[in-house]
Amino acid sequence: MYNIIYVILCAHRARIKVRKMEKHYRINTYGCQMNVHESEKLAGMLEAMSYTACGEGERADVIVFNTCCIRDTAERRALGNIGVAKAEKKRDPNVIIAVVGCMPQQQSVADSIREKFPYVDIVLGTRNISALPSEIRRVLAAREAAKKRYRCFDLNQPEDYLNIDEGTPQTRTSYPNAWINIIYGCNNFCTYCIVPYVRGRELSRGMDSVLDEVKRCVDGGYKEITLLGQNVNSYGNDIADENVNFANLLHKIDAIEGKFRVRFMTSHPKDLTEAVMDEMAASSKICNNLHLPIQSGSDKVLRDMNRCYDSTRYLSLIEALRKRMPDIGITTDIMVGFPTETEQDFEDTMEIVRKVRYSNAFTFIYSPRKGTPAAAMPQIPYAVKQARIAKLIKEQNRITKELSDQYTGGVYEVLAEDVAPKYEGMVCGRTDSGRLVTFDGGKDDIGEFFNVRINASRSASLFGQKE
Ligand code: SF4
Repeated sequence: MYNIIYVILCAHRARIKVRKMEKHYRINTYGCQMNVHESEKLAGMLEAMSYTACGEGERADVIVFNTCCIRDTAERRALGNIGVAKAEKKRDPNVIIAVVGCMPQQQSVADSIREKFPYVDIVLGTRNISALPSEIRRVLAAREAAKKRYRCFDLNQPEDYLNIDEGTPQTRTSYPNAWINIIYGCNNFCTYCIVPYVRGRELSRGMDSVLDEVKRCVDGGYKEITLLGQNVNSYGNDIADENVNFANLLHKIDAIEGKFRVRFMTSHPKDLTEAVMDEMAASSKICNNLHLPIQSGSDKVLRDMNRCYDSTRYLSLIEALRKRMPDIGITTDIMVGFPTETEQDFEDTMEIVRKVRYSNAFTFIYSPRKGTPAAAMPQIPYAVKQARIAKLIKEQNRITKELSDQYTGGVYEVLAEDVAPKYEGMVCGRTDSGRLVTFDGGKDDIGEFFNVRINASRSASLFGQKE
């Protein structure tokens, strides 16, 4: 008995020793899918430096905050968590803390991080995250050699940013889905949005390198490719070759052999072309699903937002899409409480929601972003915004439920994407049209396509059984 306890104790001590020798990292990601994917690149870089991922609460040698500034809440949450990391640094001064991405790309935020969080070692902007390994080495070298502190604040937007895709290892975390960036930045300057200021102007990847990455992912067993960009429809506009455009890219991806699906986001209504809609309709791999942000149903508010389309143009796109793909699942983003939104403008939004009948809508309360034109306009009281969004959500939920009910009894092909978090013995995945389905299955089913009969619906979720 004593021997057994002794052996267990030794094994436990050995495990602790090995863990102490291993180097660990933790990445806290905030915001959109672009950030989720960029964190996969950060993870790839750290793993190439022999760091291993660790979970919340475990000791990490490098802690990275990959931040978002699109809304005030994301910014405040990140700042709160950076504040909490002070305790980790106090416990172990060797921990390296890095803050990267959209938040520090705003000079005022970078300055405030420098002052208020003196324990942060590295600050990198949106287009130089590939400098993380070299900056970690510099922090370590300074400590080693001179017992001095080295702090990096680098917000450059280098020209060779696209090397992030060609030359950087990535640790993909979303199997069977692979995220692939096709374009960075945005030229649109919607008056409420901070993105063009922090992510810079549009920069498209070369078509060959995107196609190579898609092929590598398909060969590696990924079953769903999601093309990412702030505005995927303007892919190629900055490349002096008229064949490099989004419709052609979709066409070439569709021709790649293998059983896989393609989705993309985000599409700007002003740039969605007939050619793209034709490719979607003709393709066997591009999903029957489109996320097309409307933001507001009022032409006056759309003008004030600088969205460069009106409700008539938007509705004509919906009609053109449904003519080509009658079952297409269309989702949207709607912003409530833009500074110039009157009660009538809000009713125009409600009206368009009823007309389009979105499968789902991501609804937001407008939040002023410092440095954008809309932030300088007189603001609407928060209580008014809250009342409007509550009304909008109620209406959208009603429509979503009605559309969900139409799936009941039908059989749909679903890609099993994950084990269902709330239901034992079930997996979840999406139909081609983007509907979330929970059905019988286990871990081994992930990455496989199944025909699933839908037998119940609950708001946006469907429930079914494999045929
Ligand atoms: S299109 Fe408008 S909302 Fe979208 S990222 Fe560009 S500026 Fe922001």
